[in-house]
Amino acid sequence: MKKIVESYKRRLASEEGWVLKRGAQLRIALCYPNVYSIGMANLGFQAMYELFNNIPEVSCERVFLPDTVRSVSVSEGSSVNKLVRNGRAPKHPRNGSGYDGLPRGRAFETNELAEYERTRTPLLSLESQTPVRDFDVVAFSISFETDYVNMARMLQMSGVPVWSKDRTERDPLIVMGGAASFLNPEPIADFTDVIGVGEGEILGPKLVDAIFENQTKEELLLALARQGRGFYIPSLYLVDYHEDGTVNAYKPTEDNVPARVGRAISAENPKEGSLRRAIRKGEVDIAAQLRRDEVFAPSTTIFAPQAEMGDRFLVEISRGCSQGCRFCWAGYNYWPPRVVPARDILAKAKQWRNKTDKIGLVSTAVCDHPEISEILQGLRAMDYRISVSSLRLDQISDELLDALVESRDQQIAVAPETGSDRLRRVINKNLTNDEIVDICGAVFDRGMLTVKLYMMVGLPTETDEDLDEMVVLVERIKDRMLEAGKRFGRAGKIIPSLNGFVPKPNTPFQWEAVCEEKELKRRLKYVGKKNVAYS
Ligand code: SF4
Repeated sequence: MKKIVESYKRRLASEEGWVLKRGAQLRIALCYPNVYSIGMANLGFQAMYELFNNIPEVSCERVFLPDTVRSVSVSEGSSVNKLVRNGRAPKHPRNGSGYDGLPRGRAFETNELAEYERTRTPLLSLESQTPVRDFDVVAFSISFETDYVNMARMLQMSGVPVWSKDRTERDPLIVMGGAASFLNPEPIADFTDVIGVGEGEILGPKLVDAIFENQTKEELLLALARQGRGFYIPSLYLVDYHEDGTVNAYKPTEDNVPARVGRAISAENPKEGSLRRAIRKGEVDIAAQLRRDEVFAPSTTIFAPQAEMGDRFLVEISRGCSQGCRFCWAGYNYWPPRVVPARDILAKAKQWRNKTDKIGLVSTAVCDHPEISEILQGLRAMDYRISVSSLRLDQISDELLDALVESRDQQIAVAPETGSDRLRRVINKNLTNDEIVDICGAVFDRGMLTVKLYMMVGLPTETDEDLDEMVVLVERIKDRMLEAGKRFGRAGKIIPSLNGFVPKPNTPFQWEAVCEEKELKRRLKYVGKKNVAYS
């Protein structure tokens, strides 16, 4: 156990911005069902950490799946490591906690998982190294369904009964939220007491209020279920099946519990959205008020150089997308599109500028933001190197491209989705191949010679002709890249990423059939043979 505790303390010593509130009324263990380096790159996870810790009565600590590889957490020669070796590990700016008791000498190495197993240590929180089972609430933030298995694993490691039916009043409340909770919570319904259906900014504070207002777990679950929106309590439903095993209905077991749970989105709170709509409708007063009021903008709150993208300040500038592509889960589930006012984004960016010169703008549609010009100008004035999560092809502006080039970001990701104009109309992405080639050409002409292309096979109505057109499209883009490459005297790269279409709930394509495995493999091979590699 000593090695694990030391490992966690070293990790904390390498970070800035974490919080430890001792003596809080309510203790929440916020779990990411994957390893630290991945979890800390997740903006939703960091946002919930900030939100919970902003509530005075709450102390929220992080928990990750222990690393399985032998890793050097603090690299030799790094400034943090030098401090640690000299016994001068930094103290936390807000709570003054420090790590001067750490062993000196070589850089820290451990295989956390092996150490947990060898010493039979229950899973610990990062900040205070407290066993997870001692917290009042264990909240999982899950973005990907593939991490569900890690959730069960972490519960097992914690010593908390994995099945909710086996847990008692003394066990922590097990909560699950995050993008996967909107998408497909049923596989983990039997492990979970409360499933958040919606956005954390709204659900987190509501959950905390309900916990304080109710005496017993039973009362709490019923109160949450009766809110009608935002909280799905699996233990309060019986599932009725058809003879063939498909679900007929979910029947609530208690009065006033809704048969269908509506999603709760932060646009319910006028402070947290709708600037774009107000501007579009010419609602000057509302727009002015939205610009004035504080808006919670999810952003990096902990500077964690050991994490993926840990040297970059990430900030969500908008949520949702107005395009309405028929397959797109994010477009439909985060409807309506909402933005964070430029003023709030720039204020946060200013606070972080002394830590990093790299900023990542997170959004499904960066250029949908009505104040994107102001944001880019402000960030460039602060000498930030700007990158974006992905770009909507129809909205790439010269100004944005200039900002990206200036940031020396040599790669952008765009999503033509498919190869033919016909199929693109079917999925409601109304761009032509000619337009896509022109836009990529404009990117190459600025010296950005690497483009990642996101595409799918197996979309409804797809034929081999669509696949042929996909190959031609990639070839055309490649030709433009080579042409520009000659001018700049260096080679570029086209990185096509090809995935099978999976119908997503609450989209117009939700009931479309999934392409059968054999056929999907044939199509991937068909395209692959023509030199479009897939991942
Ligand atoms: S443009 Fe992108 S984010 Fe918007 S709906 Fe289409 S796929 Fe989704």
